[in-house]
Amino acid sequence: MSHAYRYCPACATELALIEQTEDGGPRTRLRCPACHWTHWNNPTPVLAAVVECTDREGQVLLARNAAWTHRMFALITGFMEAGETPVEGIAREVAEETALQVHHTALIGVYEFQRMNQVIIAYHVQACGEIRLSPELAEYRLFAPQDLRCWPAGTGYALADWLHSRGLEPVFMDPPRRDPH
Ligand SMILES: [Zn+2]
Repeated sequence: MSHAYRYCPACATELALIEQTEDGGPRTRLRCPACHWTHWNNPTPVLAAVVECTDREGQVLLARNAAWTHRMFALITGFMEAGETPVEGIAREVAEETALQVHHTALIGVYEFQRMNQVIIAYHVQACGEIRLSPELAEYRLFAPQDLRCWPAGTGYALADWLHSRGLEPVFMDPPRRDPH
């Protein structure tokens, strides 16, 4: 986000909101008044997986992040590493977070997640093996595809599109209840 940088990473001068003409016209961005470094703030790609467990009757694994307060189960997600393709990256993330081995990968689609300044690259992966969660994940659940409930955010729309591609009508859950106070 725009608060991530206060000082220029090149020369340590304090950044300022400065208007400058770019290819698309004048734009105000955080820039360095001394060396003209610009904080472009481009969205970060995030990989996401609908994990189909081929050795568990095609059930789909959803997991709950240990940091979440809601009892919400979602897709496996993670950032790409330098030097890997998105397909390699999602197989690595699934292995790191669940210990499952991915043997087939297919792109579902690309989804916006503007609230986090991210763009989601969502895959359907087929995987098998023993499940061992990383400490980042508190618990997992396996769902028959027809029992999955989608949520109104980027990864939830990816799940909905995957269900639709399988001939299932996606069903959306009610928005999560707020924590007390
Ligand atoms: Zn600078």
